Amino acid sequence: MASAITGTFAARHIGPRTDEVTHMLDELGYASLEEMMVAAVPSSIRQRDPLRLPPALSEPEAQAKLRAMASKNVVKRQLIGQGFYDTHMPAAIRRNVFENPGWYTAYTPYQPEISQGRLEALLNFQTMVADLTGFDLANASMLDEASAAAEAVLLMARANRKNRDGKIVLDSNIFPQNLAVIRGRTRALGIETEVTDLTGGLPEGTIAGIVVQQPGNDGAIVDHAEIIAQAKQAGAMVTVIADLLALTVITPPGEQGADIAVGNTQRFGVPLSFGGPHAAYMAVGDKLIRQLPGRIVGVSVDDAGRPAYRLTLQTREQHIRREKATSNICTAQALLAVLAGFYGVYHGPDGLTAIARRVHGHAVRLAQALKAQGYALASTEFFDTVVVEVSDVSATIAQACEAGYNLRRFSDTQVGISFDETTTNADVAEVAAVFGVVLDDAEDTASAIPATMVRTSEFMTHEIFHSIRSETQLMRYMTRLQNRDLALDRTMIPLGSCTMKLTASAEIEPITWPEFAGIHPYVPRDQAAGWLELIESLEGWLAEITGYAAVSVQPNAGSQGEYAGLLAIRGYLDAQGEGHRNICLLPSSAHGTNAASAALAGLQVKVIKTADDGSIDVDHLDALLAEHGANVAAIMVTYPSTAGIYEDRIAEVCQKVHDAGGQVYVDGANLNALVGIAQPGKFGGDVSHLNLHKTFAIPHGGGGPGVGPVCVAEHLVPYLPSDPLRDEAAAPVAATQYGSAGVLPITWAYIAMMGADGLTRASQTAVLSANYLAKKLSGHYPILYTGNGGLVAHECIVDIRPIAAETGVSAEDVAKRLMDFGFHAPTMSFPVAGTLMVEPTESEDLAELDRFAEAMITIREEIAEIERGEAELETSVLRRAPHTLAAVVDSNWDRPYSVEKAAFPVPSLKVDKYFTPVGRIDQARGDRNIFCSCPPVEAFEN
Ligand SMILES: *Cc1c(COP(=O)(O)O)cnc(C)c1O
Repeated sequence: MASAITGTFAARHIGPRTDEVTHMLDELGYASLEEMMVAAVPSSIRQRDPLRLPPALSEPEAQAKLRAMASKNVVKRQLIGQGFYDTHMPAAIRRNVFENPGWYTAYTPYQPEISQGRLEALLNFQTMVADLTGFDLANASMLDEASAAAEAVLLMARANRKNRDGKIVLDSNIFPQNLAVIRGRTRALGIETEVTDLTGGLPEGTIAGIVVQQPGNDGAIVDHAEIIAQAKQAGAMVTVIADLLALTVITPPGEQGADIAVGNTQRFGVPLSFGGPHAAYMAVGDKLIRQLPGRIVGVSVDDAGRPAYRLTLQTREQHIRREKATSNICTAQALLAVLAGFYGVYHGPDGLTAIARRVHGHAVRLAQALKAQGYALASTEFFDTVVVEVSDVSATIAQACEAGYNLRRFSDTQVGISFDETTTNADVAEVAAVFGVVLDDAEDTASAIPATMVRTSEFMTHEIFHSIRSETQLMRYMTRLQNRDLALDRTMIPLGSCTMKLTASAEIEPITWPEFAGIHPYVPRDQAAGWLELIESLEGWLAEITGYAAVSVQPNAGSQGEYAGLLAIRGYLDAQGEGHRNICLLPSSAHGTNAASAALAGLQVKVIKTADDGSIDVDHLDALLAEHGANVAAIMVTYPSTAGIYEDRIAEVCQKVHDAGGQVYVDGANLNALVGIAQPGKFGGDVSHLNLHKTFAIPHGGGGPGVGPVCVAEHLVPYLPSDPLRDEAAAPVAATQYGSAGVLPITWAYIAMMGADGLTRASQTAVLSANYLAKKLSGHYPILYTGNGGLVAHECIVDIRPIAAETGVSAEDVAKRLMDFGFHAPTMSFPVAGTLMVEPTESEDLAELDRFAEAMITIREEIAEIERGEAELETSVLRRAPHTLAAVVDSNWDRPYSVEKAAFPVPSLKVDKYFTPVGRIDQARGDRNIFCSCPPVEAFEN
């Protein structure tokens, strides 16, 4: 059996070799992987039949299939616009960041000492966005423009104390996809919206907030000063959805008195990729900072008083605020924000402005020529988009397509043409020719930007946007930042609940192929035939793996999958005349996004207690059902449980909720212990989401991109999220039908190359490795929970609390000390405070598992020194960790332990040593003094 995978892709994806598997099984006392799984997994849920997936492909075979699908996409020059534009990703950024595992395999920077590089890159992004929009600060990315606009609306509804119960007024000149997503979000919460043409002034009634788009859907630049003033007068807040490139030349919303700006940063060097992933942004003034959703990078100091970056206000995260969280965003678009930030560093303000002027010049030239020929334009004041009346829209679009250009079908009588960074003079002439217009060569200097809207303020004045102009400098800057961080390219990242597994090169390479990357999300379907084929087969495979009827890949993170799934439940219940059911039951250990998503879906959260063994307290569930049964809409359970256990009574729990008339949501983010083992759609789930950026090989990107497909049983199929451009019956949760389609080839290739056997073996190996580590560590630390056969599932919780009680050494101390060993810490204090949750995944070989165990056991010895009174906590090697190079070579070394102990706690480190660039960071100070843009260079002196 074991040798069946030799020579396959699976044998390279899975870390432990056959003999290593045997060794680990011996340690645990099982004769085979199957025998171990029989002991661990309740038989009531075990899958009997193998997955029906196509036979596993080799790397070259998978590449050939992907090439064949890619070649079915038709790449035109994309002039559709509507929020998505062609752009040049500088090759230096592509090779050094986008295609570099040092960047794309990093984890979310919760452990800031090993994340200084990506935190700096994200801070560049924040500074750039804040400057361009004219606001005090921006967050480190949102999922997409449409959902960012929806979050802005909810923020206004929440933050506006004065007109608390007022309606939200949406200008009719907003992109339709943004309107669709905003309306879905507000409908779920009963927030009233009204769509109207705000150029005619504010409508009657109490208004909590208004939303306008700049430039508008039809490309028009409108001076919003007047409407913003009126809104303020009426006590309403203002959100402007703004195009960042346009903001280099037009007055930014922050200067016009708006409260919030949101938008997409895709056109800053990130490919179209059929709709995503792209980093959206949100920027606000100082007074809204504590309500700003998403992650925010801020500046604090380390133990030597040097500036150091960290995520600020982390306590706002969903895990703490739960159903009171301001947003359910967890995974965002970190990697894409890093890319856009580097694009800003590469071009600087002058370069960006030059691009904007060129793009604008193209649009002006075309508009003038069309006007001279008698064409009617929707607006004569615009940035990059010309909307023009034609006699036969279909014929014009077909003719342009023939010439190699996609135009936008704007209305039954108008087409839209949006230019971008890649547009050439020849392109403009060819497009003009489609309209029967001959362009002369004369360079035009005219502007179509209203005089009152010409930007006069400076932006991106920080040194970082001026100091790096040669490629040598840029390459070294990117490498320097990368080297400050620990990603999967250097070490195992044993993060429970996060599944940091291998992303194989053969999986990720295709995402930059132009036939995938160059497709606009709103092209005619026949131009995306390859994409649609890939997505259809992937959705089918995921349905087979989970045992559900249908899957939508639209949600662009796990949180969005949860939200979509809960909306599906609500839609179904409504249709059954059960719309009064508004309670969502959640175990106390649930992931924080569950509670936040339930709240956003308009559900009221009731918490189910956790029993002593970490499982759901079934008696308490019974009591809750007895009391609230008639109003229970759903239970959300994570399986395997957040405690990392295959709960025995899961089928029974599902049955009880069904008997009470509720639906069952199985959080499948951690499917790594289930693929090929058990199917949530078969053991009681009505709906689940998956995290392709955990179980299915999409890399974490330092905090995104992600894909959170929502999988549903037959009765919920009509309620899957709809296409935002076609219908709003079931609320879309993203701007495009397939969300972050651009990274789906990774998962496609992973499943295609692993096949049913490879995937099953991966799950088994993940469980084996977690149990091997649990066994090795259990002699030194208590393992908090175990299930059947004393086994855990794919992760185990190491309990530091007894040690903390006795010695004061905290889980944080252990996490920081692990950095001195070159490790990224396990998940800290989730789901139980004071613990570390370890998930090795199947990708780590035995030597790496042993290296981790050695580090943990060495640390236990260091703790014992405190227990024995040989070391003081405050001056211990644990509390003073991590140790920088600067600290250990300091000639004034005055610590009670040796330099060798600090830097080389185990001998292997003498050859391969990673030093954190900063010492332990002062978290509290960073939250007290919030500073969220690039610090001045002087801050780093001495
Ligand atoms: C990671 C995770 C989520 C949230 O997923 P995101 O992609 O970060 O939004 C939800 N539930 C569980 C159990 C998770 O582990």
